[in-house]
Amino acid sequence: MKRYVNYINGEWVASESGEWVQNTNPANGEVLGEVTSSTEKDVDRAVQAAKMAQKKWALVPAPERADILYTVANLLKERKEELAQVLTTEMGKVIAEARGEVQEAIDMAFYMAGEGRRLFGETVPSELRDKFAMSVRVPVGVAGLITPWNFPIAIASWKSLPALVAGNAVVWKPATETPFLAAEFVKIYEEAGLPKGLLNLVYGSGSVVGNAIVEHPGIDLVSFTGSNEVGAKINGRAGELLKRTSLEMGGKNAVTVLEDADLDLAADGIVWSAFGTTGQRCTACSRVIVQETVKEALEQKVLEKMNNLKLGDGLDESVDVGPVINRSALEKIHEYVKIGQEEGAKMLAGGEIATGNGLDKGNYYQPTLFTDVRADMRIAQEEIFGPVVSFIPVKDLDEAIEVNNSVKFGLSSSIFTADVNKVFRAMRDFDTGIVYVNAGTTGAEIHLPFGGTKGTGNGHRDSGVASLDVFTEWRSLYVDY
Ligand code: NAD
Repeated sequence: MKRYVNYINGEWVASESGEWVQNTNPANGEVLGEVTSSTEKDVDRAVQAAKMAQKKWALVPAPERADILYTVANLLKERKEELAQVLTTEMGKVIAEARGEVQEAIDMAFYMAGEGRRLFGETVPSELRDKFAMSVRVPVGVAGLITPWNFPIAIASWKSLPALVAGNAVVWKPATETPFLAAEFVKIYEEAGLPKGLLNLVYGSGSVVGNAIVEHPGIDLVSFTGSNEVGAKINGRAGELLKRTSLEMGGKNAVTVLEDADLDLAADGIVWSAFGTTGQRCTACSRVIVQETVKEALEQKVLEKMNNLKLGDGLDESVDVGPVINRSALEKIHEYVKIGQEEGAKMLAGGEIATGNGLDKGNYYQPTLFTDVRADMRIAQEEIFGPVVSFIPVKDLDEAIEVNNSVKFGLSSSIFTADVNKVFRAMRDFDTGIVYVNAGTTGAEIHLPFGGTKGTGNGHRDSGVASLDVFTEWRSLYVDY
């Protein structure tokens, strides 16, 4: 059986705990290997190594730091297929999407390598004579990265690349569900020549390793992506410790479809963003806010497309929808479906754990569509994180905006319409960090900031130049002459 161990100070080492956790393939329950289960001691060793290494790294000119990122980018490119296969095997998303995710990491690596030649500050006119005033970005220090399983390499790249190019060191705890891809990513940094101690990988549970990262006095900032429950806990504790945090959390994203929209295009966008990654994207469309005059026509088009979705192991190129991550996710999704039925929503498709044709061995859920959902129902308010979409009928754009904004989250929203005035109103009034027009709610590009408002985040962003704001401090400099 394959065994995966921590990477601390440039060495691959098992935790002294002697404990191992098995990881399984969500498509068929097969045991893939086991992973060392770390303790606070391992986190401490990783932080000490990171602190030492960071001092030297901060003195390396940023363009030189960036050279390593170019090598990382090229190695990711070379190994794209291999990484995508690991991703699908341990996480379940279909192989085409896995390739897309690795591509995102490649793009991010090239992009952040470019930032090593920018990292701009500002020169401003001083108010006084014979004085020079400017600002520079300086690294924060040691960054603790805590990441989820649903985008195991994209999110790790969104965080580790800007952290490193900006002169920080990293202690990274990946999700327990996706340890193997984390090791492959770290091996690429190692091969690219990243000096030892700058990137440390510590495997383990959130309650032990994640918590130790938040608590450790040597960690200067915590960049977290995951659920609201965990994010809120981290925020509370990090706040008491006066640590900087960047939090990217859940979503309850909606596609709005108005009566003048191209309904075929809208149906495509809905199906892709509701059932892609089996609905397990933070930006997944889980609400369709539809003008009542076209509700039935749109439902029919979406149902037709749903009928053609093939469930199965994501390594099979002909499969459209893979498994969900584990048994407890499957049960949680089914629980929400029952809640929807009890709340009086009408189910038009799905609603069951998928069985037969070999699906029983894995964690498969039938793509599910509810209609006549009210905006205040739990299935329209809470993040389900599975292949379930709810149609909410509305009279007009005003009501659509109200419904779109009626949730505690604020990640992504989209509008399908042919009316340019309505497009601009939606872009102004949808209260989300991301707004799409005539496209579904998913599909981020790395050069734009990624994140959300309200309960989705705390004002910071992953990806794009904005991510450098998380990993740098501003220093203002005044020079009298
Ligand atoms: P999760 O919150 O369960 O876990 C995320 C990470 O936090 C994991 O590494 C986990 O081990 C760790 N963790 C758990 N408890 C912890 C604790 N007490 N202290 C410190 N760390 C702890 O989330 P998940 O199930 O892995 O991911 C799904 C969630 O992530 C969804 O809510 C989804 O919307 C969200 N997400 C958000 C974005 C975004 O950018 N907004 C992107 C992807 C996923």
